[in-house]
Amino acid sequence: MDVRAAVLTAPGKYEVQEFAYPELQDGALLMQIEMSGICGTDKHTYLGEVKQYAGTAAETDTPFPIIQGHENVGVVSEITPTAAESLEFYGRKLKVGDRITMCPDVVCGQCYECKHVMGYVWCENSDCYGNSYSSADPPHLMGGWAEQMYIRPDTFVYKVPSGLSPRVAVLAELMACTASLDKLKEFSSYAIEGFNSGDTVVVIGSGPLGLLHIVKADMMGAGRIIATDLSEHRLSFAKRCGANATLNASQSSAEERIHQVMEMTRGRGADVVLHMANTPASFIEGIEMLKRGGMMLEMGNFADTGDINMNIHRHICSKNIRLIGLTNHPSTGYGPAMDLLERYADRYPFDDFVSHEYALADVDEAMRMSMDTESLKVVINPNL
Ligand SMILES: [Zn+2]
Ligand SMILES: [Zn+2]
Repeated sequence: MDVRAAVLTAPGKYEVQEFAYPELQDGALLMQIEMSGICGTDKHTYLGEVKQYAGTAAETDTPFPIIQGHENVGVVSEITPTAAESLEFYGRKLKVGDRITMCPDVVCGQCYECKHVMGYVWCENSDCYGNSYSSADPPHLMGGWAEQMYIRPDTFVYKVPSGLSPRVAVLAELMACTASLDKLKEFSSYAIEGFNSGDTVVVIGSGPLGLLHIVKADMMGAGRIIATDLSEHRLSFAKRCGANATLNASQSSAEERIHQVMEMTRGRGADVVLHMANTPASFIEGIEMLKRGGMMLEMGNFADTGDINMNIHRHICSKNIRLIGLTNHPSTGYGPAMDLLERYADRYPFDDFVSHEYALADVDEAMRMSMDTESLKVVINPNL
């Protein structure tokens, strides 16, 4: 029995290929994919923006051919005894049929970064499902846009709570990314810096990552949440997620938006700006929106998207800003993320985040739709 997968053979070029059903090494399992999200990273790769972790020991170019898909939910379809006993992150036993999700990042556990940074993936030798393994290399099935995915023994695997459907559980990886806000809270022990209850939070870019950060900022006690986006559709969804003001970037200039944020904050500026857009163009706008001593989080530009001009005096020094760059989410974030998705199911529209589902054969259309601002989370469902 062969396994079908959508393979990106080169930027912009997909084809459905068949792979031999894999043999499991000791400690591994096979996951039958139910849903796999299209992330901003996948769009970067599709567009040929393949440089990741530039300027670090982990710098890589995404290889081709590749099976993409790193936001995955599915069920255990085959499992080795060792994996059944010990692969689940929280120590729970696994068996065929259990619904699981997984952290796409694989770390070595031995390098300087692994020994010093808890939870977050700064590994100098990191790999990533759907992102760094070529489908040309065995065991081939290392991305979620396939009927089956091979799960290595060094993968972080999490059992999905019974209350979460696949269309909500597929958000677990993105929700784990919002651990960023838990980290920003830690800065609030210093004077008035960081993220405090009652703060004004601006979220630039209201795609799925931005929307879940709006949800999390709301859960964590933000006083005012201002969302920006090019799409009115996404901005109205942002309101359902907890934003109480929205700024449409397709109908206003950066100067106008900065002015509006200043007006809403009595001329002081936002306490926190979360830059979730996958373009550098709106970065300076975010800094201009900050108060003196405010904090800016950059998560949108995971791949190398090029340069911008900035005035070091005005944008960094003069306002005493705190600028946090963040590439990943912590492997420790999945349990809390899924607990929050389950507990707050009635308060936030998690069920409506997945706006479009596509079969493997329609991956081209899925990618096109994911770049359309009328979509939210677009997923591949290999069972369609
Ligand atoms: Zn991602
Ligand atoms: Zn490492």
